[in-house]
Amino acid sequence: MDLNNCQLKVMQENFLNFYEQIGNNNKLSPNIIAGPCAMESYEQMESIIRFLVQRNITNIRVGIYKPRTSPYDFQGLENDGVEIIKQLKGMYSIKVISEIVSPRHIDKMKEVVDMFQVGARNMSNYELLKELGKVDIPVLLKRGISATIDEFLYAAEYIIVNGNSKVSLCERGIRTFETQTRNTLDIACIALIKKYTQIPIIVDVSHSLGRKDIINQIGQALLALGVDGIMVEVHPKPQYALSDSRQQLNFSEFDCFIKNLTNNIENVERVI
Ligand code: PEP
Ligand code: MN
Repeated sequence: MDLNNCQLKVMQENFLNFYEQIGNNNKLSPNIIAGPCAMESYEQMESIIRFLVQRNITNIRVGIYKPRTSPYDFQGLENDGVEIIKQLKGMYSIKVISEIVSPRHIDKMKEVVDMFQVGARNMSNYELLKELGKVDIPVLLKRGISATIDEFLYAAEYIIVNGNSKVSLCERGIRTFETQTRNTLDIACIALIKKYTQIPIIVDVSHSLGRKDIINQIGQALLALGVDGIMVEVHPKPQYALSDSRQQLNFSEFDCFIKNLTNNIENVERVI
């Protein structure tokens, strides 16, 4: 990829950093973005937001429209979920990051979403990317399931050249032959994007690993890499979750993860 001809390169330090794009109440660096895989009910969502806000974590991820591999799986609360978020935003001071699966949903979701997430399955949906280039809302672009780093950066370029430079990237693992983890977390991708661009990059530890037993070690690696944010799924009762039950942290596991990260923020020597 010849970055020199790309806005990604031309803009360099003019990118807003992840904090400037979305904000962050907890002053944690990296920024923590947490929430359930999917909104399942008002009660589930309210309990998660209350738990996170008590910890000053106000950047909430939540799937409202879910792109599922099987059409028979839970597809999200869809329009009803937008209404629930509207109510909860009246009660809690939060920022909401939620996946947009179709340009048709932009107008509706704009009312409640502070950052649009483009999921891995849609990274190459160029018509969606072009439309997101026309809105003044930040976009979190996830790496496609089998996307090369160049393809990932070109997808970001689609949004930027169409007018929206508030873009951050999210490494969420790529598909390889390995089966122990859900995807293979590509830490070289993070280092290379940091080397060649100024675009913020966060890591989704839940979808990359698909398991929670090694999350603390991975957290340490991410601190060392100087990632701009860490996304993690949390659910009050992961064993009953309607999606991704194996990887979502329960509340005490979440507290341990954050404690482990914050205890070590000063100890880890940053590369960048
Ligand atoms: C998600 O974050 O809800 C999700 C579906 O992740 P991905 O697009 O990375 O698979
Ligand atoms: Mn999920």
